[in-house]
Amino acid sequence: AKAHSGDNYQFFDKDMNTRAVERHFIESHLRQALEAQEFVLHYQPLVNLRSGLITGAEALLRWNSSERGLVFPPDFIAVAEDSGLIVPIGRWVFLEACTQARRWLNAGLQQISIAINISTVEFRRRDFLAGVRSIIEGTGVDPKFLQLEITESALMQDSKAGASILRELKALGLQIALDDFGTGYSSLSYLKQFPIDILKIDKSFVQDINGGNEDGIIVSAVIGMGNSLKKRVIAEGVENVAQLDFLNALQCEEGQGYLFSRPVPADAFAALLSDGISQ
Ligand code: C2E
Ligand code: CA
Ligand code: CA
Ligand code: CA
Repeated sequence: AKAHSGDNYQFFDKDMNTRAVERHFIESHLRQALEAQEFVLHYQPLVNLRSGLITGAEALLRWNSSERGLVFPPDFIAVAEDSGLIVPIGRWVFLEACTQARRWLNAGLQQISIAINISTVEFRRRDFLAGVRSIIEGTGVDPKFLQLEITESALMQDSKAGASILRELKALGLQIALDDFGTGYSSLSYLKQFPIDILKIDKSFVQDINGGNEDGIIVSAVIGMGNSLKKRVIAEGVENVAQLDFLNALQCEEGQGYLFSRPVPADAFAALLSDGISQ
């Protein structure tokens, strides 16, 4: 490198280099992670905000790397998407979540819906629907308890194709959630164009809602609109009682967040399901 000691560029170069090395490390190890069975799903309860009862679980992927310990999605999902590895990983996630739903059902636990995050890269693949169908058939899970979480970007480029996939998923009986709602671009027209059942308000809006500020006004408008359109509205990132009270006052029916529980391994989730959440 041209840079020498004391030169700002040195830090810039070093930083870029570190990032490139990091990316390379992640990509090469991600390739082996599936076979080495290093992925695990954690489950975070979706809660009825009035009753405190659990209505569902969001499956959230973790990578238990033999070299790095527990790695969280923000550190590897983008690499998995760019390399295409998200496709087999996503298929594993779907299969594992459905298999887990069956285990809970067989164990006599109350049946709840399971929310599964679908990457735009997976959603756009021609074989996406076939994969969903075969896993549903293979596991015998009742599709009405499956909630697919997609983001606007899945619907942006080819909206006709997107709409037709969503209609087929609906025909199979699945629920469709629009994730990170409000962070994208044309949210409002999407509600008209696509068969969306659920709006998930991104946690960035929930973080500092307290009557009066802009985030509060936006959240209030989204809840009002969702309720009027008869959609389920789920607020993400509920961390404290002030946020809970605010959401309840606006008649937001469901939420999830650290106030109720962090995402936890399947066994711990089963315990929450049978014992209930104590705040
Ligand atoms: P997301 O779908 O918006 O998921 C919610 C994220 O917020 C999760 O982060 C969750 O752990 C976190 N969270 C939940 N409650 C709270 C709270 O009260 N406060 C705060 N600060 N955070 C909270 P996580 O598990 O790190 O996942 C990050 C993102 O990675 C997810 O965002 C989703 O876009 C993606 N992701 C996770 N699992 C999968 C997967 O299986 N497949 C795909 N394609 N993407 C996934
Ligand atoms: Ca999600
Ligand atoms: Ca989000
Ligand atoms: Ca997301």
